Amino acid sequence: MSARIALYPGSFDPPTLGHLDVLAGGLALADSVVVAIGVHAEKKALFSFEERKALVEAAARDRLGAQADRVSVIAFRNLTVQAARAAGATLMLRGLRSATDLDYEMQLAGMNLGLAPDIRTILVPASPLARPITATLVRQIASMGGDVSPFVPALVADALKAKFDPQKNREANS
Ligand code: ADP
Repeated sequence: MSARIALYPGSFDPPTLGHLDVLAGGLALADSVVVAIGVHAEKKALFSFEERKALVEAAARDRLGAQADRVSVIAFRNLTVQAARAAGATLMLRGLRSATDLDYEMQLAGMNLGLAPDIRTILVPASPLARPITATLVRQIASMGGDVSPFVPALVADALKAKFDPQKNREANS
């Protein structure tokens, strides 16, 4: 049987403990997982693609150890099913936090199946502690100087601190 490759698309801006939880779930189901970071011109991200790639790789190594050998990171700007085909993936990996996520993800999975019947979506539920975590709230909390360490790996918390460090930003703009 050929290797089962899962594409895990998202913004990962920044990667959180929720993303890593779903990534671990994907690694239990697929031989390898390709994390696909969406880079869309109209959507301004806090972290550049290169920064997000480095954070995902380091966080996967940190939390998942040798399992991280089965993780790779790419950028995509087209449809997720096109990115999946290009990566040789036959599985699409998504995470679930709530019933609201489920409604949306079911719709997305249905339309993606219409676009690419050979690619199946797998939905991985968040573990209880990771359920409330969203990257949007993590960015907001960090921008106001809050402690995000319960929600993201330590290296991501450090990267957020550096991003919102007023002194560093003053130096960069001077
Ligand atoms: P966010 O919604 O946090 O900005 P993304 O757009 O990067 O995250 O989401 C990529 C995928 O990861 C989606 O399927 C999303 O539902 C899932 N995901 C994000 N955070 C969590 C979490 N805390 N638990 C489970 N899945 C999550």
